[in-house]
Amino acid sequence: MALRVVVGNGVGKVAGSIDESASFAPLVGSGVKDIDWQGVTSINSYGVRAFLDFAATWSQGQMRFHRCPAVLVDAFVLVPALLGPEASTAEIVSLEVPYDCVKCDVDFPVLLDRDELEIQGARLNFPAQTCSICGSPAEASEDAQNYIDLASLGAFGRKAVTAR
Ligand SMILES: [Zn+2]
Repeated sequence: MALRVVVGNGVGKVAGSIDESASFAPLVGSGVKDIDWQGVTSINSYGVRAFLDFAATWSQGQMRFHRCPAVLVDAFVLVPALLGPEASTAEIVSLEVPYDCVKCDVDFPVLLDRDELEIQGARLNFPAQTCSICGSPAEASEDAQNYIDLASLGAFGRKAVTAR
């Protein structure tokens, strides 16, 4: 599915695959700082390049990213430059965090506000959730600990006290 970028009410909504055909043109020069990424389904290496070109156009202050799907948050961990220059790292306001239910052997995404993440030294604490199938307590996937790198950049609003 080609990337769809819609701007309305000061918010940019992005959906689909960020790949070689991706264009962020509707957002460039729009002055929009709030972007809702929830509909993004994938990003590949070509998409990363297109995203970096887009990030190079951010001149008017800090961007705010809303409802970032795990595929995108994982890309931010691998390529922190996607969040823009370190001096004005984009804020990740909300994100989908993968949770595991050990009992059902399923994982499911939970949309969390960044204020629900607790930065504790070099660890992130995620709020307890309940498996929607069996009702057992479910924990954030161990992979989500990689998000500490984003906390170190200040992407969650407060910096983790950890050095890379
Ligand atoms: Zn379960």
